[in-house]
Amino acid sequence: MYLIKAGLTKLTSYPGCESRYVKTDILISGNTITKIAADIDEKDAVVIDASDKIVIPGLVNAHLHSHDNFNKAWLENMPLEIWMPVVRPFFSGVRHTPDQVYYRTILGAMEMLHSGTTSVMDDVLLNGITDEECLDAIVRAYEDIGMRAVVCPHTKNITMEKTIPYADELFTDRMKEAICVSFPPEEDIIGFMEDSMNRYNRTDALATVGLSISAPMRSTQKMMEGFRDLSLKYNVPVSCHMLETYVQKCTGPMFFGKTLVRYMYDLGLLNENMVLIHCNWITEKDLKLMENSGCTAVHNPACNLRMGSGVAPIREMLEKIPVGLGTDNMSANDSANIFDAMKIGCLISKLRTPDYTRWLTAKDMFRMATFNGSRCLKKEQETGIIAEGMKADITILNAENEQYVMSDDPDMVMTYSENGSSVDTVIVDGKIVLQDGRLVTIDEKSVLEHLKEIRKEIRKEHDLAWKESEGVKEIFAKCYKRCNSTRL
Ligand SMILES: [Zn+2]
Repeated sequence: MYLIKAGLTKLTSYPGCESRYVKTDILISGNTITKIAADIDEKDAVVIDASDKIVIPGLVNAHLHSHDNFNKAWLENMPLEIWMPVVRPFFSGVRHTPDQVYYRTILGAMEMLHSGTTSVMDDVLLNGITDEECLDAIVRAYEDIGMRAVVCPHTKNITMEKTIPYADELFTDRMKEAICVSFPPEEDIIGFMEDSMNRYNRTDALATVGLSISAPMRSTQKMMEGFRDLSLKYNVPVSCHMLETYVQKCTGPMFFGKTLVRYMYDLGLLNENMVLIHCNWITEKDLKLMENSGCTAVHNPACNLRMGSGVAPIREMLEKIPVGLGTDNMSANDSANIFDAMKIGCLISKLRTPDYTRWLTAKDMFRMATFNGSRCLKKEQETGIIAEGMKADITILNAENEQYVMSDDPDMVMTYSENGSSVDTVIVDGKIVLQDGRLVTIDEKSVLEHLKEIRKEIRKEHDLAWKESEGVKEIFAKCYKRCNSTRL
């Protein structure tokens, strides 16, 4: 039992999720916030003195790909379509060992917990679509470090050259033969996902399994429909990339004769479990369909800028649907820090329109980083706000520093100034995971030493990826240029 004493606490009330900062105590029993009041007296509780601190709901990273966690600060100035054939060995793929998979997951979780994030939706590529050992290593890593996670095995069953306009006709026969990938039948993929949910989705589990459709043009209709049914049966989210780039905007009309959102909607694939990632190039009509379906979306501002993908119409989206915040790929952002996403997301909204009354605010960003993110993970009944009866996922920040000393508005500081360095204590599911800025669930020094060993192998993987991309990335560059010279 913990008693957080006298913290300046962000409290949220329904309806409308209005929030305010109040000096109060919080009692945590087991994994639940059981009482919020001034001067709680509970002698059995361990007291956490928060009298000079700020107490907020744990942040939510609603979109991350942990398979890319080893690739921070590697590739530069590549749009998505040219980055994709380079980021992993194009023909032979990646086969990380279970130990490497475990530690790459820990690596991302360390960065997130240090910067106050307590939940993540991890859209993660396994070694093969149905690799049980790989999935087990990921789930175990989140459970061990003590971070809440919805692990969504990233699924696509169409090869890349068939998913980008013009690529198939430019690929040589030798290239097509060299692609070492054969996808299991849809029934086997769907069966694997169902088995995994039955295995991991216990009520007391920190890390559970959700679903991921890589993107509508990368997956067969049969597989997507199977995932839709499974998600409704088990009430889990389905992550799906949507209109991230201008090339993808061209893909809809060229492949399906309609926008990709319309394509999904017409197949009955949009519903309240669907989480559309990016949505940089949606139309007004697309947004209406999204609103009607009840789906959510995730904004990944740093990745969108880093890859030149586009600036999403977030103000318009927020007026219709819940939008969370994500950090996306490590090689396309270089950070898993949601404070960065809050700042960058807020700043780029100011470039979308000169109408400054439509720019995003610090309060918008905070809501996206907490409650909306929880809604994307389908955990809004448990996490995302501090209230009695909610799970105790809480981040406590030092306020006695240069960041906060002159401000009366913590939301503004957290959006425009905080970089995670004020994070002092992180509680997930009622357990202290980070204390005095140090993780207590792992030995950080020995983890970093082990990662240095792994790094040697990753360098070889990077060299192979560059080698195998020769000739291929040039083809994708042609497709990129052709699409971008087409005005829709
Ligand atoms: Zn992504």
